[in-house]
Amino acid sequence: MSAQPYSLLIKHILKMPIAQASRREIVYRGDRRFTYPQFVERVNRLGGVLAGLGAAMGSRIAVMDWDSHRYLEAYFAVPMSGAVLMMVNIRLSPDQIAYTIDHSGAEILFVNSDFLPVLSAIRDRLPRLRAIVLMTDEASPPDLPEGFAGEYEALLAQVPAEHDFPDFDENTQATTFYTTGTTGLPKGVMFSHRQLVLHTMVIMATMAMAGLNGRISREDVYMPLTPMFHVHAWGFPYAATMMGMQQVYVGRFLPDVVCRLLRTERVTVSHCVPTIMHMILTAPAAKDIDLTGWRVIIGGSALPRALCEAGLARGLDIYAAYGMSETCPILTMTQLRGDILDAAENRNEAEVAIRISAGLPATLVELRVVDDAMNDVPRDGKSVGEVVARSPFLTPGYAGNPEASDALWRGGWLHTGDIGTLDADGYLRIVDRVKDVIKTGGEWISSIGIEDIILTHPGVAEAAVVGVPDERWGERPVAFVVLKQNAAQDEEAIRSHVRARADLGEISRYAVPDRIVIVEALDKTSVGKLDKKTMRIRATETSPH
Ligand code: ADP
Repeated sequence: MSAQPYSLLIKHILKMPIAQASRREIVYRGDRRFTYPQFVERVNRLGGVLAGLGAAMGSRIAVMDWDSHRYLEAYFAVPMSGAVLMMVNIRLSPDQIAYTIDHSGAEILFVNSDFLPVLSAIRDRLPRLRAIVLMTDEASPPDLPEGFAGEYEALLAQVPAEHDFPDFDENTQATTFYTTGTTGLPKGVMFSHRQLVLHTMVIMATMAMAGLNGRISREDVYMPLTPMFHVHAWGFPYAATMMGMQQVYVGRFLPDVVCRLLRTERVTVSHCVPTIMHMILTAPAAKDIDLTGWRVIIGGSALPRALCEAGLARGLDIYAAYGMSETCPILTMTQLRGDILDAAENRNEAEVAIRISAGLPATLVELRVVDDAMNDVPRDGKSVGEVVARSPFLTPGYAGNPEASDALWRGGWLHTGDIGTLDADGYLRIVDRVKDVIKTGGEWISSIGIEDIILTHPGVAEAAVVGVPDERWGERPVAFVVLKQNAAQDEEAIRSHVRARADLGEISRYAVPDRIVIVEALDKTSVGKLDKKTMRIRATETSPH
């Protein structure tokens, strides 16, 4: 017989002996625990349930849940059945939730009972939905709402523990989810089995090179702190499962629950956006926890220097990664290289600079920083341009939106909409988003750069800088600042702090914000990032001119 091609299918991640037999557990909020053999059995049963509900190749199956073992089961069983997993961003507005579920073509929905009020408000806008399954944490589930196909645990119990998942082409679509719609309607991105399997391998390969001492290993305890609906929790659950790691899922994000699980489950590796890390480090419940050795990858926004230093002071191994919904998401990750640190004049300073940079391209990622004509800008760590990328795991485009897809893939490279620099060693630094960079007095100013400096002021807890239109200068920076508890309200002191750094030549003099606005909280997007679109409107509306 001739050699048989071996497709890159998600089921092969689960087929590895370590995933089949690991004695480690999948833990949900600390009170539900499953060994890997139990987990694999539940994936099989979910396959049986899906078949019973008539899910076929290409069926869209939507999930609305907090981070949970159930979500992980769906990560596997849905694509392994040949169907497409649609991850609903539960933090979008009800209108947008209705739009995304309907646009994806979902015919079956698995919904956590916490979201029943939202669902009932939008149910009549989901005509394609023909079966709904209730998921709940209650020991005795509530009565099934009318028209529901069943309750998750009851349905799993009714089907066999074994299930045959079919073989098919590795290019079959596996997942879809929607961008957070910071501009216009959310857009659906999509990833295939082949892409997710490759991305899983790439996470493992890149993580093996990322830290300085701690390599990722199967002895790690993994707990995601980015929602599972957002870019497959950055793809880490697939990698953690492939390695048979202990995995911890927090359910609804509550800082107290997170802190408790960090302690009781001895979590060693997590990932989140900066705002979540900030929340945890300042949570009263985290004060007495020993966080030494906790490896946290920060992405979704730039890792501010002050946050990195605060994390290091608590013993964290904290560093950045960069990517976006369209890229599965990992494009780059910090790599602390001994050869660079050994040669540095100030090793600590060099280390922090690398930890907060976006890092080096992940394995199998080709990355360029280009000008408008797609010419590479010099790799001098200073010249700026747009970051464009190619790799086997980037979305082919947006569902049903050929114009946006063409724009994304101009010239055969995926355009990130981010401005960055590359240095001679290949390290990427994100300067800003194209739409957030502040154009003032003929200069381009990085909003992230100003935020970084404001955050080093001892009284400042959080900061966001946006550009507002200005007749004379084009745009001027305005800073929104949240003060630390008990810090004096002194806008001028913060401005002087920034001005002093401009005098040292660290940033342009044009970058000193005209206005510092002290606020109780910053506007955040559905995934906890700074919402600069809203803040720009606020800054313009509150403009004294
Ligand atoms: P949204 O565009 O709705 O925020 P994404 O999660 O896809 O949704 O965001 C991707 C964007 O987040 C990137 O294009 C980039 O602007 C920003 N980003 C992600 N990681 C980093 C990082 N390490 N440094 C700076 N910006 C980052």
